[in-house]
Amino acid sequence: MAKTEFKSESKRLLDLMINSIYTHKEIFLREIISNASDAIDKLHYISLTDDSVGLNKDDFKIHIEINKPERLITITDNGIGMDSDDLDNNLGTIANSGSFKFKQENEKNDDVDIIGQFGVGFYSAFMVADEITVQTKKYNCDKAYQWHSAGADGYEITEIEKDSVGTKIILKIKEDSDGEKYSEFLEKYKISALVSKYSDYIRYPIIMEMEHRKLREDCDLEHPEYDEVKEDEVLNSMIPIWQRNKKDVTEEEYNDFYKQKFFDFENPAKVFSNSVEGVVTFKSLLFIPSKVPFNYYTKEYKKGLQLYSSGVLIMDNCSDLIPEHFAFVKGVVDSQDLSLNISREMLQHDRQLKNIANTLEKKIKNELSSWLKNDREAYEKFYANFGKQLKYGLVVDYGAHKDVVKDLVLFYSSTEKKLVTLKEYVERMSEDQKDIYFATGESIETIDKLPQTEYFREKGREILYCAEEIDEFAFQSMNDYSGKMFKNIVNEDVEEEEDKTENEEKNDDSTLKFIKDTLGDKVSEVVFSKKLRSHPVCLTAKGGVSFEMEKYMAIAQPEAMVKAERVLEINAAHPAVNALIANINADKDKAEKYAKLLYNQALIIAGLPLEDPSDYADMVCSLMN
Ligand code: ADP
Repeated sequence: MAKTEFKSESKRLLDLMINSIYTHKEIFLREIISNASDAIDKLHYISLTDDSVGLNKDDFKIHIEINKPERLITITDNGIGMDSDDLDNNLGTIANSGSFKFKQENEKNDDVDIIGQFGVGFYSAFMVADEITVQTKKYNCDKAYQWHSAGADGYEITEIEKDSVGTKIILKIKEDSDGEKYSEFLEKYKISALVSKYSDYIRYPIIMEMEHRKLREDCDLEHPEYDEVKEDEVLNSMIPIWQRNKKDVTEEEYNDFYKQKFFDFENPAKVFSNSVEGVVTFKSLLFIPSKVPFNYYTKEYKKGLQLYSSGVLIMDNCSDLIPEHFAFVKGVVDSQDLSLNISREMLQHDRQLKNIANTLEKKIKNELSSWLKNDREAYEKFYANFGKQLKYGLVVDYGAHKDVVKDLVLFYSSTEKKLVTLKEYVERMSEDQKDIYFATGESIETIDKLPQTEYFREKGREILYCAEEIDEFAFQSMNDYSGKMFKNIVNEDVEEEEDKTENEEKNDDSTLKFIKDTLGDKVSEVVFSKKLRSHPVCLTAKGGVSFEMEKYMAIAQPEAMVKAERVLEINAAHPAVNALIANINADKDKAEKYAKLLYNQALIIAGLPLEDPSDYADMVCSLMN
């Protein structure tokens, strides 16, 4: 029989499995059982609408059998089964489970630990078995198949006879060697303990034949006599963790459930469960990851919750349950009020589902608000991970969700030197300040040095520093916060009452005209600045498009050629500007050079590219000579 080789990444993982440390080995059972349960979920779902399956809810079971002399553990399910393509695709590669990709991204971490923490599915069986046989028949398929592998060098698939639909996994347990005691896994008490530890919540009975000593009925109680009896026993409580009373579930249980279910190897940053009774009755168990999932800010990331209806899995990733701005939330929802017969397509328009989604949105909002109020440090950690997503929520759908999100977003404050909420900003505003000021730029440090900020700082005004592209769009779509408008101080319109400055006194149109003529179309206007203090020049954007938007659009939609209208502000109180003015009549060439130099400097400070860097460098050198 020709062997098929494992796909290359699977080979690497197999090596890792085979050499992993002992304490991790026991998770193999959890992984196999969880696959069996998933397979049953699938057939169970079909059976709701298709009588030809011929099975009722109570018929679905997982059996475990141990054959000690032959060193075999057999796990049997009556789930959906696999055909030969499935076997080839699913058991020939592990690309299906996100775990391997994740592992690769985290290569620097301890590989072995990742295995222990969240498992790598079917392959983990190779930690305890040197030979694996899978016998399976898929629902609605005439033929049955066997997949067999004795380790890293490959597998073969053959046709077999099998009557019942479902899958049987036969593990040939390794011989004990140098301190590795695999034989333990052939003990019923051990297997039973592993099921309790890792698979208790599985919603189908996990059955094993157990031996008991039973009191003989007709014996004399003074001299009790016992019989050895064998009886099928259900090893798991079958109560899903979200159905259990909050008080009775330990933090560790919640954490373990989260890690297994959602392929994370770190504990969640937040766990919250809800039991809602009302128009729609449901239970939810939600998690916020403590790290950004590796594919989070890509198209590959699928938001959504697992949706159960009275304990039956309806959908693995129901995206309608979670709004875009809370896309980072993971978890499960179980409701008895959803019709079991509903198709996944119909579900989208289901009123009950919308109701649940609305309730969940409120719950998540409240949870985040109280987190922000009661544990600022933890909230800021969360915010560093997912704050961008919240701000995105302000922008999408033309700002329709701003009321949900506006009190959850944070910005860096120039006066507080830390992240603040908009509410905190507004509460601090002095009476004579009309607007909320913000400034945009590459980073907090560069914004702090922007010439435009000097004037506001002098007046003791608080400025929100915005270094993320989304920030400006967020303010734009919010329009105002509790009646206060947002003003970008890097843009032109500063509405404060002006103190008379030297700039106004020196109001001399011929200087402005000279500079404008020298620069031509590069700028739309040259003005004497009201806000400059120690800097000679700055650029402001006029007419709605800011420099940050220009930079953003240059990447997002270069063909649109969106340009901010440039206004050059000059500071007549600055010696460099005075030097220019003095030369307008004395040495026109030099004055033109100065005007260009100052314009280029304004570009640099605004973080905009120089139009002709080498020309600029030549000018600087010629002045140095
Ligand atoms: P994962 O469960 O993370 O997808 P596994 O390596 O555990 O990865 O399993 C790979 C795939 O093999 C599963 O997704 C499923 O399609 C299939 N599979 C495994 N065990 C069974 C089973 N008992 N019944 C049906 N299909 C199974």
